[in-house]
This record gives sequence, structure tokens and C-alpha cells, in this order.
Amino acid sequence: MSEDGLYPLLKEFEGRPAATGGVGKDRVDAAMIRHWCEAMGDAHPAYTGPDAIAPPTMLQAWTMGGLSGHTDRSSAYDELLTLLDRAGCTSVVATDCEQEYLRPLRPGDTVAFDAVIESVSPRKTTKLGTGHFVTTRMDIRVAGELAGTHRFRILKYAPAAPTPQPRRQQQQQQQQPSRPRPVVNRDNQGFWDGVAHHRLLIQRCGACGTLRFPWLPGCNHCASPDWDTVEASGAGTVFSYVVMHHPPFPAFDPPYAVALVELAEGVRMISNITGVPYDKVRIGMPVQLEFLRVDDDLELPVFRGSAA
Ligand code: ZN
Repeated sequence: MSEDGLYPLLKEFEGRPAATGGVGKDRVDAAMIRHWCEAMGDAHPAYTGPDAIAPPTMLQAWTMGGLSGHTDRSSAYDELLTLLDRAGCTSVVATDCEQEYLRPLRPGDTVAFDAVIESVSPRKTTKLGTGHFVTTRMDIRVAGELAGTHRFRILKYAPAAPTPQPRRQQQQQQQQPSRPRPVVNRDNQGFWDGVAHHRLLIQRCGACGTLRFPWLPGCNHCASPDWDTVEASGAGTVFSYVVMHHPPFPAFDPPYAVALVELAEGVRMISNITGVPYDKVRIGMPVQLEFLRVDDDLELPVFRGSAA
């Protein structure tokens, strides 16, 4: 089928149900909340005690069918995926989810839910391949009242064929494999901007002042999304370390030491130790920040040790 013929068929699925009449297999309960909070390291007092509410991000957990699944799944979602399979979009990747919270869930609540195929995107080409984003929206209710919505998006795609590399690049890679690149995104862009100016920047919560590293969109201590940065002095000590022998990675020359460095400001970061042989790195060793030019495109903060 031509792509032009496919998209109108895909669009017809918009608004069709993906699940109807779903009911949570268990009531919202304190044991599940406790396990979740322990797994997440979330000690917020709202989630314990006689007036406890469930963490809002558990919204979807109460709808999950487990290994045995739900019997109320609609056929439309399966039909849509089959249509995409037949059009060559045989691979799938979950891309993101969005949740909206309207009312807290409390132990004893029974959730009911329906899901709808909200949208199917036009054909998109990504690094993974070409295909269509499919968004489902689940509405979760308690006693008929909307408690929250959960949007879930997948990309159903035809995998891209590996692109042949120019010969020069191939030769270069064979001669000198390059170190992996950091994944720079909107949450850590500021950190890498700092590195480019030879500054090691630590995030500081705008509400409670807690320092954090690595960079995160919010504060683990008070959940505030506000932050600024402080520049690390560069002094630190080796808090812990491992010596890598195996497996070997291209561009790395084992054995070498990978250290967890505790900065003078109190946060810790993983980095390499320079200036000291791998077998002379010790816990407690004082280290000093420096910037290592790895290649034309990559500079990294590392720490120079001083062997006793
Ligand atoms: Zn905070």
C-alpha cells in the first residue's frame, strides 16, 4: 500500500477505544504505596499515615493488568498495530508519557478506566526509522469522578537501514575509535555549556538550597523545579573507585581507574583519575579538577590525583 493510501486508514482509528470498562485488579492500598515509595526513595509524609494519599505518579500502576492482563482490551488498538505491521512498520518503541492529576487517590479507592486512541501522526522519520506516532489516552476514574489522565505514545516504525559511512570516516574509526559522546538534553545542557567554558557547575535548588549532581529537572529533597548553579571549586577526594579490566571498550585502554569523586561542595560525580597510575588510586586521595581534551569535539571534566 502506498503511504498516501495508508494515512487516511490510520486516521480512522482516532477516537476509537483502546480499552473499555477497565477496572483496577486491586484497590489502591498502603502496601503498594509503601513498596513504590521505597523503590523511588520518596519519603514524603503525604504518602503515609491515616490520611495517606498515593503518589500521583502511581496513577497508571493501579490500572495495570499484570501477567494475566485485562480481558476488556478493545480490538481497535490491535487492528491498528496490525495495519502498521503490514505496512512495514514492524518495530515499536515507547517514546514518552504524560500524566495529569485531578484528584488524589487514597487507599480503598477502586479505579475504573477507559482508553482511547487519541491520535496517529503523519509519517515521521527519526533516527530509528520512519513510521507513525500513536498516542493513547487513558482516563482514570474513582466513583465516576475523573482522577487523572495518562497519555502514552509509541513510535511504530520501519527500522532504518544502516547508512554506509564515508571511507575516510571508516578508516579514522578503525585507527582511533572515539569515546562515547555524552547525551546532551534540555535537562543537562547547562552542565555541558559550563564544561565548554572550563567551569564545573553544580545545580542548587532555588527553594531549599540543596546542591545536586548529576543535573536533574527538580529537587529530590523538596521537589522544587527552581534552580540556579554554583561553580565547583575543583577540589575533591576519591570517595570510591573501581579499576576496569574487562570488558574492553573501543577508545578505552584498560586497566584504568573510574572514580566516584566527592567534591568539596559535597556532591559526588563519576569521572576518570589522571596523573596517577590506576593501581595507585586510593579512597580518600585528594584530587583536583582539570579538563581533558579528548578529541576535536569532546572535552571532559576529570580529576588529577596526587599519589602519596
Ligand atoms: Zn529543594
